[in-house]
Amino acid sequence: MQLQNTSLLQNRSFINGEWVDASNAETFEVINPANGDIITSVADSGAVETEQAIAAASKAFPAWSKKTAKERGAIMKKWFNLINENIEDLALLMTTEQGKPLAEAKGEITYGASFIEWFAEEARRVYGDVIPTPANDRRIITIKQPIGVVAAITPWNFPVSMITRKISPAIAAGCTVVLKPAAQTPLSALALAYLAKEAGFPAGVINIVTSSNAAEIGKVMTESPLVQKFSFTGSTKVGKMLMQQCASTVKKVSLELGGNAPLIVFDDADVEQAVKGAMASKYRNAGQTCVCANRLYVQEGIYDGFLEKYREAVASLNVGNGTDAGVEIGPLIDVEAIEKIKRLLGDAVDKGATVTVGGNEHSAGKLFYEPTVVEGCNSKMAVSKEEVFGPVSPIFKFSTEEEAIALANDTEYGLASYFFTQNLARAWRVAEALDYGIIGINEGIVSTAEAPFGGMKESGIGREGSKYGIEEYLEIKYLCLGGL
Ligand code: NAP
Repeated sequence: MQLQNTSLLQNRSFINGEWVDASNAETFEVINPANGDIITSVADSGAVETEQAIAAASKAFPAWSKKTAKERGAIMKKWFNLINENIEDLALLMTTEQGKPLAEAKGEITYGASFIEWFAEEARRVYGDVIPTPANDRRIITIKQPIGVVAAITPWNFPVSMITRKISPAIAAGCTVVLKPAAQTPLSALALAYLAKEAGFPAGVINIVTSSNAAEIGKVMTESPLVQKFSFTGSTKVGKMLMQQCASTVKKVSLELGGNAPLIVFDDADVEQAVKGAMASKYRNAGQTCVCANRLYVQEGIYDGFLEKYREAVASLNVGNGTDAGVEIGPLIDVEAIEKIKRLLGDAVDKGATVTVGGNEHSAGKLFYEPTVVEGCNSKMAVSKEEVFGPVSPIFKFSTEEEAIALANDTEYGLASYFFTQNLARAWRVAEALDYGIIGINEGIVSTAEAPFGGMKESGIGREGSKYGIEEYLEIKYLCLGGL
């Protein structure tokens, strides 16, 4: 990996504005999933360093929260500009540790940086209220204040944007942050911290603790009385456990958890649009996103026309190392991801499904899998219940709108869903009937800093991005002014 700005490759935790080794000098390796090479070793921090980081964030909070929103926003905008100036290096770093194609890595960095810009501006619009009084001798006023120290844990599939989606609203609101990135992708997080330091954030406002022992760090974060807010993006299983841990100190929690996104193609869809949308939703990041279409429901009348074009599009995807030109599907993150696909496909085929495209490991390397289409799926198959998190499209045929809605909602998840139709009345009906926090109508990619991102049911609590995102980091205080 040849970075132009070699300072972006950091390998220690970032605590109180300093680069810090683990107190026991332990490290863990960061591996390139495309070829198994060791990129570098990173400080394996533990409870001691997490407590130091929380103490630093707590110490930095009073001064940071007292800055005006405009002052905080000015530093955030410098950070935003530095990220954009270093986008080529940041993309290469991300592709090397995570595997996604360079073009997608750049797209993620632009998307990730957009949250910094958005919340730098949004901080100036944190309004309180004056509420009509029920008694003439008193007035009712609300003000909003930063909640305090925020602890956060993020996953490997979006090594930059999952971080900026949390840190940006928090620091814009006046909070300070301690964040643990995924052990598989800590380098993008540390590069962001390096640029934050360059931008001029005071020591302790942003702290990054790298570790291979997530449970140890999570326990300190969730149980510390100095932490007022905990924000997590990752699996529903781990999210539930962390939420339970947070009960010990009654922390405010935000959870962005797993999904099982349905994508419905109705008979009255525009076929080209549906194929394009489904490809974009399903195959981004080799299918490793929480909002990837996980179940494709196709109505009988359009089935043959849609599938003919869809199979062709999937079969033509270019698989390879994400740093090679023209590659659209990189490696999966680890061998467990490959094993999961094999298990889910095996179960589907055993229960009567047919693989019509792909279906095998790919010759590009140990962690590559062929873009796959498996048809004839039904609700008895594990693939209808679990996140595939890989380049596999399970196809289900259906007859009526009511049936499609019932099937789509038949899951404990409620993050993203998609449907394709040219019928306006149906668009409203179906959008209102789907139990999902995010709904793409004739569109496969919907995330943007301006819109609220988050799930219903077991997909999470709270929203990130948009005007709502900053509320997660604010307390509403009620002032009663009496004796008038
Ligand atoms: P995961 O196992 O839950 O890991 C996510 C983060 O939690 C990582 O930093 C991980 O650390 C940490 N972690 C794991 N066990 C922990 C514990 N016992 N205590 C504290 N922290 C712990 O999830 P994943 O499989 O890596 O990520 C994919 C999942 O994230 C999928 O379910 C996906 O849908 C979801 N996701 C959701 C969103 C959303 O916005 N809703 C966005 C992206 C991803 P290590 O890296 O050290 O294991």
